[in-house]
Amino acid sequence: MSPAGAQPSTQVRRDTVQGSSLAAKPGAVSSRNSQSGAEIADVIAEHVAVNADSRHSRAVPEECMSVIDPGAENAQPFDQGAQDPDLASLLGQILITRGMLSEQQLQFALSEQRERGGRIGQILVENRFIDGGQLAEVLAYQFDMMRFDVGMEPPSPEALLHLPADFCREAGVVPLRAEEQDVLVGTCDPTDSSVQQRVVAMLTGHNVSWAVITDADLTQALRLYDADTAIGESGMPDSGAPARAQQTVVADTEDIRRQVSLKPAVRLVNELIEVALREGASDIHAEPEFDHSLVRLRIDGELRHILRISMPAHNMLIGRAKLLAGLDLGRRAEPQDGHFSAVAGEKQVAVRVSVLPVVGGESLVLRLVAEDGELPSFPSLGLSDDVAHTLRTVLDRPQGLLLLTGPTGAGKSQTMYAALGRLLRRSLNIVTIEDPVERNVPGFKQIQIDERSGIGFADAFRSVLRHDPDVIMVAEVRDLETARIATQAATNGHLVLATMHTNDAIAAIPRLRAMGLETYMIATGLTAVYAQRLYRPSCTHCGEMRPIEARLREMLKGLLGREDVPEQEFHGIGCPQCAFTGYGDRRAVGEIFVLDENAQRLIYEDADADALREYATGTGMVSLREAAAQKLAEGVTTAVEVMRVGTAS
Ligand SMILES: [Zn+2]
Repeated sequence: MSPAGAQPSTQVRRDTVQGSSLAAKPGAVSSRNSQSGAEIADVIAEHVAVNADSRHSRAVPEECMSVIDPGAENAQPFDQGAQDPDLASLLGQILITRGMLSEQQLQFALSEQRERGGRIGQILVENRFIDGGQLAEVLAYQFDMMRFDVGMEPPSPEALLHLPADFCREAGVVPLRAEEQDVLVGTCDPTDSSVQQRVVAMLTGHNVSWAVITDADLTQALRLYDADTAIGESGMPDSGAPARAQQTVVADTEDIRRQVSLKPAVRLVNELIEVALREGASDIHAEPEFDHSLVRLRIDGELRHILRISMPAHNMLIGRAKLLAGLDLGRRAEPQDGHFSAVAGEKQVAVRVSVLPVVGGESLVLRLVAEDGELPSFPSLGLSDDVAHTLRTVLDRPQGLLLLTGPTGAGKSQTMYAALGRLLRRSLNIVTIEDPVERNVPGFKQIQIDERSGIGFADAFRSVLRHDPDVIMVAEVRDLETARIATQAATNGHLVLATMHTNDAIAAIPRLRAMGLETYMIATGLTAVYAQRLYRPSCTHCGEMRPIEARLREMLKGLLGREDVPEQEFHGIGCPQCAFTGYGDRRAVGEIFVLDENAQRLIYEDADADALREYATGTGMVSLREAAAQKLAEGVTTAVEVMRVGTAS
């Protein structure tokens, strides 16, 4: 190799890159952790510009030499005996040493390469001297890279989002795996360092490592980019949205449009909507945070983190949502609103799209409103006959307050809709006050509260009372004012349904007291409190009875406060039907405390939670823990699941 000082400056700096990262450790090229990261980024940018016109020329000898030379100095096993330092010959020597190729075959291929150019490996494969898999294995060995078999492990959708399909097709690379900042990229030609440098430049901020794939692997992986159309593109911008300004449409809109039509973007949006519906979420949020994006779901009113995605994935998500809602892809500095319809399984949902420019990019909120389908019933949710029967008797009363309680994700809103569905059949005037409206139900008058414009639950409630309702559902009692109006209405001929955040049914009473609600209002207004959790029944396709571990049985005894706990559990070992989780769809389990005269007296006497609980269980209330334990005893679920439900708060 010539002394660096004798080279033109571009060449010197390019060698610096290769010497410090590519050649020193071909399997892990980093543009972030290296001490001279900024310098390398400069060089890469320069290099990309230099190579822009020569991107189709593969295996330029000078390029190959600069990659392979340091390896030769580090005594790679086969180059010692190589008569020709040329890369093609080196590859050939490895194949010959391994007994995969004869000297004559190599000479034939080399002469063909001299005549028509091209990669030596490709020529060997075309002549059927070796197959693609053998070539990939030897190249992986030669360049100290991993051999990746796409047939065995397809690229993840998240990984595919890191590079555009057109570039991958042209450069013969494809992202295979992505986790946090690490991206594993497959290449058909590890000798082509210019492609590697372009990839590193495109993935600035990521740690890029390399794997060798065959041409067949590449074709198969690229197929995953092809667009599909699971979600109908029938979106419309909302009438209230600002008018489009044609002059702000940027030149790359077509590029964005192409990108967000790619399968990974389509799949990301579809999968997020499916997950959100499965989890009973009302909103999907995606917002930039530093160099990545946080995706969160709003479940029972609370935001829960579910996923961290890269910024390219975030931008694709935003672009896809805009495309579906008919919004302006190029306009990124103004808020935009729109909507589209999506079908996930048997559910049809209206998706309201809101995009807001924020620091670091754009923030996205997708609000999901179920459009049709039957309201759930108590049995369909999994409620036991006893609990469902008690709930029905409470709902059949002309007035009173029924509280539904439980932590976030306990499925309260589904049970609420089931309760309202029962009332709907009696042609009552039903008004709901929700935040947000999770489901459009014909027959309900549904009010969306808007705290920002000053219309809270209490204000909405007062307006509703002037609307002559029979039944009022208020999504959440979170302040004294709402609690007071709800209990007053419940004693004035209205049936009021509301949710609260408490761990069990009894805890709602001290909670109302702590809010400042007068004891007599609790005693006279409150009819019943229902508390709920969701548990997972074991998969019926792969479930089998097995003994419960001694350690778990001890924990169960502690949880239930009794010695006689089951010795066996029904446990799913995992099968395709349950996606190898061992569990089926979540079901509800609940406890209900109906206030009778004695309970009212206890409340008047300021009895504490323990005294109330003792009275409730003494008069037949089956506690949440016992209800869950019953599912274990009945051979429906596992001890671990009972522990999870019993300790959830
Ligand atoms: Zn199963």
